[in-house]
Amino acid sequence: MPQIPKTHKAAVVGELGQDVQIKDVPVKAFEDLAPGECLLKMICTGVCHTDLHAAMGDWPVKPKTPLIGGHEGVGEIVAIGKDTADSPVKVGQRVGVKWIASSCLHCEQCRKGREQSEGLSRSVLTLLMPQVDCEDVKISGYTVDGTFAQYVVSWVQSVTPIPDTLESEAAASILCAGLTVYRALKYSETNPSEWIVIPGAGGGLGHLAVQYAKYLGRRVIAIDSGDEKEKLCRELGADHWIDFSKSKDLVGDIKAATGGKGPHAALVTTASPSGYTQAVAYLRPGGHLMAVGLPAEAKLDAGIFDVVYNSLTIHGSYVGNRQDAMEAIEIAASGAVKCHYATRKLSDVEQVYKDMGEGKIAGRIVLTMEV
Ligand SMILES: [Zn+2]
Ligand SMILES: [Zn+2]
Repeated sequence: MPQIPKTHKAAVVGELGQDVQIKDVPVKAFEDLAPGECLLKMICTGVCHTDLHAAMGDWPVKPKTPLIGGHEGVGEIVAIGKDTADSPVKVGQRVGVKWIASSCLHCEQCRKGREQSEGLSRSVLTLLMPQVDCEDVKISGYTVDGTFAQYVVSWVQSVTPIPDTLESEAAASILCAGLTVYRALKYSETNPSEWIVIPGAGGGLGHLAVQYAKYLGRRVIAIDSGDEKEKLCRELGADHWIDFSKSKDLVGDIKAATGGKGPHAALVTTASPSGYTQAVAYLRPGGHLMAVGLPAEAKLDAGIFDVVYNSLTIHGSYVGNRQDAMEAIEIAASGAVKCHYATRKLSDVEQVYKDMGEGKIAGRIVLTMEV
């Protein structure tokens, strides 16, 4: 058994909306780990916009306090709770912690492979949907302490194994951003060679979506603005680029790029409702609108006539399940998908939040565990 310290450094939010502080907090002792729990010595963690929302208490259901945020973490398992039966992972293995840190695995949503939706109804939307199945979902950095810490308690059935060929820093943001866009593509009911539109293609989620879409053989219409993002999208293999700040008729330009017929799917990760409304207007009959971005209070304004007449599918897609996570990670490990990230230290998290709030962050930020 490796040496496990009694305390470790963690980025703690004392009260929602206050600054994050680096504190010494106790490490859960081996004897105290419940069956099924594992202790990870963290290597790095991505920072997601959701972490900022959690720290600010932006959503109707508040996270626990004090809170250690983070849900894109990679660490090495240093202990597994005694009496854990049939662990699919072992001590010494590198694994990832994602948004759904654990779920019951036997309620209806879990049985159907939608454990993440159980998580949504259980926590964020409990007020709207009180009829939940599962009593046991745990959300990293929200209902349980997350990955902004040198040690993290997680669950052997839900961690994501990281292949040796994938560096920890490169894996981190795949566990949320990559997983989210990969699942949306997977369920878009498109075939190789078909057209998919990715608004925000040069952003944190978008640049991963372009790569997964190309890996899956789709043709990509990348939408964003500026020369730098155009260069990035073209390098990543986008088949067509549209600068929305220069386009006078975005819907028309998108249709024109597909010979006038419209794309087969749109992967909308933007948090503005207009991205959704436009997709209803440009999709080809039978097309899929994959709804991923979460505008806080906006409604989806889709003409029912258009949806019915054009046989459109509006498909909400929320992070992903354990299998989706493994597939997203395996594709990244093959070298086909690379996250563009910059590295900072755990102790920089408050500054990262400030930069994020001001829209200053390009790509993703990955924190190492130094303070
Ligand atoms: Zn996230
Ligand atoms: Zn369940």
